[in-house]
Amino acid sequence: MARVMVRKAEYDYSTLRSGVFDVLEATGGHRIGNGSRVVLKPNLLAPASPDRAVLTHPMIVRAVAEYAVERGGKVQVSDSPAMGTFEKVLRESGIRQALDGLDVDFREFRDSVTLDAGQPFMKLELARDALEADVLINLPKLKTHGQMLLTLGVKNLFGCVVGLRKPQWHLRTGVDRQMFAALLVHIYQALRPGITILDGILAMEGQGPGKGGTPRHLGVLMGSEDATALDSTVCRMMGLRPEDLPTNAAAKRMGILADSVEVIGELPRVHDFVLPEAGALVFGPSFAHGLMRRHLVQRPVVDDGLCRLCGECWRYCPAKAVSQEGRKVRFDYERCIRCYCCLEVCPHGALRAEKPLAGRMFDRVIRRVR
Ligand code: SF4
Ligand code: SF4
Repeated sequence: MARVMVRKAEYDYSTLRSGVFDVLEATGGHRIGNGSRVVLKPNLLAPASPDRAVLTHPMIVRAVAEYAVERGGKVQVSDSPAMGTFEKVLRESGIRQALDGLDVDFREFRDSVTLDAGQPFMKLELARDALEADVLINLPKLKTHGQMLLTLGVKNLFGCVVGLRKPQWHLRTGVDRQMFAALLVHIYQALRPGITILDGILAMEGQGPGKGGTPRHLGVLMGSEDATALDSTVCRMMGLRPEDLPTNAAAKRMGILADSVEVIGELPRVHDFVLPEAGALVFGPSFAHGLMRRHLVQRPVVDDGLCRLCGECWRYCPAKAVSQEGRKVRFDYERCIRCYCCLEVCPHGALRAEKPLAGRMFDRVIRRVR
């Protein structure tokens, strides 16, 4: 049976440190031995300060690093940000400063190793440092995600896909949410982090996972050796079924979703967390999918008052569906694959996902019928 440890926590370091140490002792901390190569993989999506709740909090990274150093591990902090340089993300997040004085290396994921992932993905290229670590410690942030509902333990490992290969995968899996979720579970299987510790202290609800989301205090820390069990426990905390999370549904289809989970500690109940609308993107016969995508599915829209025309959205968009037209951002909704990456990388929180009028009317009819 998989075990998930749950703790009430705040970022005050004197109490957080002992909470994180307890979680590590109760989960996979024993895996770290003298000289073990330990790689910490926080969420380092893009430059953002801790109050925006976009990234794993620096105090959590500090506590985990301290624990690993005390056990004799050779510790490195790594990720492959979607936007901004690795150094800028480290500084703006406060992680560089928080780990000052600790014997820790900071190394951006750059080299990849190609793995045979079988059908339907065939080849997966993942960060060498993550694959070759003796202990990979996964440090996700609890946030909403337009395509995957929430980004938790399994989704956080997508950062081990290096650089521009990330948007390429979005393009390959396209509008198929199940396919993208299956890809994430394949990545999780290949990496199998020894420990996952979730930062749910200042979480994010609404239009996550970028700066368009809204920070929400939950005061929760969770840890497990099984990230799917941890993700299921978050679902339970929010009154969702584990399979409501696309990655859990994919893990179940692949036979690796923990079927029973022992929760150690008191699991709070959070019933009013604002989740994005993440129903099936398209359904029914394939000839109707294009029509549905155009008229029913949420699409990115820009708030011109917040947009500063920085260009991050059109540079990152895997489908090349964003451009600048005069002083405005323009979306080509025919090309757009609804991956919502542009929402992730917008540094000014100027983008949100919104249903077109037909989609909103369709929802109203469905609600009445129900
Ligand atoms: S929408 Fe955001 S990312 Fe795109 S140009 Fe405007 S500010 Fe930049
Ligand atoms: S416009 Fe945004 S949601 Fe559409 S494909 Fe590009 S990045 Fe994805």
